[in-house]
Amino acid sequence: AQQQLTQAEKMASIGQLAAGVAHEINNPIGYVMSNISSLKEYIDEFKSYFKTVELENKKTTDEVDFLLTDSAAIINSCMGGLERVRTIVKDLKTFSHSGQEQAVRFNLNQCVESALSLMGSEFKYGSYEIELHLIEPFADVLGTKNQIEQVMLNILMNAKQAMPQGGVIRIRSYIDGDKACLAIEDQGCGMDSKVQQRLFDPFFTTKPVGVGTGLGLSISFKIIEAYQGEIQVKSEIGKGSCFTIKLPIPSHQEV
Ligand code: ADP
Ligand code: MG
Repeated sequence: AQQQLTQAEKMASIGQLAAGVAHEINNPIGYVMSNISSLKEYIDEFKSYFKTVELENKKTTDEVDFLLTDSAAIINSCMGGLERVRTIVKDLKTFSHSGQEQAVRFNLNQCVESALSLMGSEFKYGSYEIELHLIEPFADVLGTKNQIEQVMLNILMNAKQAMPQGGVIRIRSYIDGDKACLAIEDQGCGMDSKVQQRLFDPFFTTKPVGVGTGLGLSISFKIIEAYQGEIQVKSEIGKGSCFTIKLPIPSHQEV
């Protein structure tokens, strides 16, 4: 138990650091992005201006046109990079806010309910069906509710993104020895062994810029590890994936 608390405290202070860094990065990103979009407007204005004036010869007109088009492309690619930084900062923030809380005993089923209600609007469009098989009463685990809710959220979001056309997400709770377990199963695209090997690496993503940052599972792994738990993955290409969170059930004298 001693070790659990120090790990949890460590997580909380990492969370605070991440929140601070995210905040500091967010401000400059904001003004750099707004300045760049002004530049883009200037370029568009230049372009329309050069269309109206007669330059000395056709060659100069073409050159100016080429330079302006190229500048616009460079600006677009800068914006793309900045968008990426911005989504990374957003992901960091989500997890860091959840880290400033005490570890408590709680029922993992509660996390499922709160994560689903937070996901609410995400499942509104497309035909998603959530199948719940939660055992009641369920054993308590020890951890920060918000953080474990964030882990759930990321797994649910991944499941949804793996099934863009919709499908069934099955959530089961069960007890395996001295562990309380939650399995989240989707019928999505699945993953090959290469992806499965790198899944928990920070910044590993197969999603397009702006959609994925590759932070979700790496942070989820750290959170579950901090409470002596584990995350298991089973997946088959074209069939779907199953993520299982296993957390130790503390004995009574431990809290
Ligand atoms: P992100 O969602 O930002 O890409 P994650 O750390 O959450 O980052 O996931 C890393 C990668 O693992 C994803 O880009 C995807 O390739 C794969 N992945 C995770 N969950 C699933 C899933 N349910 N089905 C298929 N692939 C998944
Ligand atoms: Mg994710």
